Amino acid sequence: MIPNLGALIPRLPSNTWQPKRLVSCRDFVGAAAAEGQPLVSGFKEVGPLHSQRASPRPLANLAAFGLTALGLRRLQGTAEGKRKLFWQAGCGQLCRSQVSRGSAQRAIPIRRRTSESSEEEGVAYFKPLVEGDLLRASPPQRVLVAAMIALLAAGLIRVGGLLSAAAAAGGGAVEMSVACALAVLLGAEFADFGTGVYHFSVDNYGSASTPVVGSQIEAFQGHHEEPWTITHRDFCNNCFPTCLATMPFLAAGELLASSPYLLLWAVTACAGIAFCQALHKWSHTLRSQCHPVINWLQDRRVLVARKVHLRHHKRPFETNYCIVTGHMNPILDKSGFFRVLAALIAQLTGVRPRCETGSRFEYLVERRVG
Ligand SMILES: [Zn+2]
Ligand SMILES: [Zn+2]
Repeated sequence: MIPNLGALIPRLPSNTWQPKRLVSCRDFVGAAAAEGQPLVSGFKEVGPLHSQRASPRPLANLAAFGLTALGLRRLQGTAEGKRKLFWQAGCGQLCRSQVSRGSAQRAIPIRRRTSESSEEEGVAYFKPLVEGDLLRASPPQRVLVAAMIALLAAGLIRVGGLLSAAAAAGGGAVEMSVACALAVLLGAEFADFGTGVYHFSVDNYGSASTPVVGSQIEAFQGHHEEPWTITHRDFCNNCFPTCLATMPFLAAGELLASSPYLLLWAVTACAGIAFCQALHKWSHTLRSQCHPVINWLQDRRVLVARKVHLRHHKRPFETNYCIVTGHMNPILDKSGFFRVLAALIAQLTGVRPRCETGSRFEYLVERRVG
């Protein structure tokens, strides 16, 4: 039983979040039918979700969700349409179980954004919300990710060398194997925890003009508005910022560590953090579009699963921040870790997190709706 320290902190009144332009699910489907192709997606939104009570109108929610999904299916047979349908399904599931009394489910119509130069025959070019953001990896990004993979491989080779030396010095095979397994486990869970803390920080504080991490803050807000964008990103484009951030630590660890277990822990932790965005992407990708090995690992909860990460994607985005294994999520959420952290930050700086104030990046919302 995990004590919930967060429950001791009184919740301050939230500015209730209001989307700019709302229509009901029925209106959305009707408008889609009237306008034809330009209207490609609706996204189910709900009001503040602080209550965990069951929906007072489960059948109405189910009907609204079905109507929206039908409209989508009729409009989009493409992979992008399926991805959005996947999100509709997930959000509908959450809405049905967790919507609070009095909050309304609505849909925002989104117009197809096209690029005159890049639209391929019959396929809508998917444009990110963040201005200037590119989904394809540049050559320097590919080189950086390749260098990170080489550094990880070098780390493993050095771990092998240190283990051989330890065995030659009389180390027992069983003890060494158990220590290695423990190092890998702790490394993966540390990476999960680290990504959770980082994700909490960029989701809740700062703006696009914040030094160093401003672009990440904006990207995470864009991800909340259109979560399927990540599925269009190249591997290297997706992972290069975290590779860049972890590379110096890994290099230092490889130079300084004399214990094979400590180095194995560091290599696992750095690998988890460096490639967390790939794991995040797979948790957003349709099962049919993921490699079977990824699906298998997700099913066994080795990697963060779709269901687990989907819980993060409901307003006010205050839970399930960890995106490596997802194992730390229940521990951090049930203990109220992030609520305590937010209360400490508010105490020290006077700044409340976005998950409490309900504020959004309005210019991204405008781009999404417009
Ligand atoms: Zn988030
Ligand atoms: Zn996500």
